[in-house]
Amino acid sequence: MPTKREPTFTSASTVELYRASANDLDVARAAWVSQDAAAHAKEAQEGRVEGLIRFLWRNRHTSPFEHGQFTFVVTTPIFVAREFMRHRTFSFNEISGRYTELPDRFYLPPADRPLRQEGKVGSYRFEPGDEQQVALVRETITESTRCAHAAYRRLLDAGIAREVARDVLPVNLMTSFWATTNPRNLMHFLGLRTAPDALHEIREVASQIEQHFAQQMPITHRVWREDLGARG
Ligand SMILES: Cc1cc2nc3c(=O)[nH]c(=O)nc-3n(C[C@H](O)[C@H](O)[C@H](O)COP(=O)(O)OP(=O)(O)OC[C@H]3O[C@@H](n4cnc5c(N)ncnc54)[C@H](O)[C@@H]3O)c2cc1C
Repeated sequence: MPTKREPTFTSASTVELYRASANDLDVARAAWVSQDAAAHAKEAQEGRVEGLIRFLWRNRHTSPFEHGQFTFVVTTPIFVAREFMRHRTFSFNEISGRYTELPDRFYLPPADRPLRQEGKVGSYRFEPGDEQQVALVRETITESTRCAHAAYRRLLDAGIAREVARDVLPVNLMTSFWATTNPRNLMHFLGLRTAPDALHEIREVASQIEQHFAQQMPITHRVWREDLGARG
């Protein structure tokens, strides 16, 4: 007898820092590699790291930022994962809908998520919905998700392969993946995905990633942020 399973809903993505091998001093050390080691030690002691990082970033001497590594575990809806995976310089591994039953967890936009798109291509603004629109969005997504989830369970219960049964699932299904990259490519990702015109949900993911980055490489993060702000 198949067990009845209900979908659950979340309004949040999560980002866990699985591992980081990256810090500010290594950026400076990579830049100093061809110079005198004793002088480098002295420079590091004298707090010259920030000045050097500013110089490197200002002059787009970016290879010293490529030696570290960050691995994140991201849990987010499929429609966000699709945007994330456009970033080809990351390495990815994602939960498989062929080898496992997919989670019963789905994304439901929070009540304060902007709902109305105004303006023209290239200069869209997103405004909050009124009470009725908020209710309509939440009820419609809940209902259609329940329907799709029931269809998935029905196919699985009838012995249909997971890789076929998943065809009925919607893009608000929560997925999980590992994403690994170096600091230079991470900054490129953050520049695009924390920008005001990026999708609301990927901005939330990017903002969590930025917090991990800032904790791990505070000087590089500060220099990069200031530069981004100055360039508008
Ligand atoms: C606001 C926004 C809206 C978007 N809208 C759309 C859309 O409507 N439709 C759509 O299809 N995509 C869309 N995208 C995705 C966008 O076109 C990029 O694919 C995505 O942002 C990844 O950027 P990237 O190629 O710079 O990054 P990465 O893939 O991480 O690459 C990093 C850098 O490596 C270099 N690089 C990597 N691969 C190549 C290559 N093959 N050739 C040359 N250089 C390379 C480039 O310098 C690139 O900037 C959108 C992105 C954003 C931020």
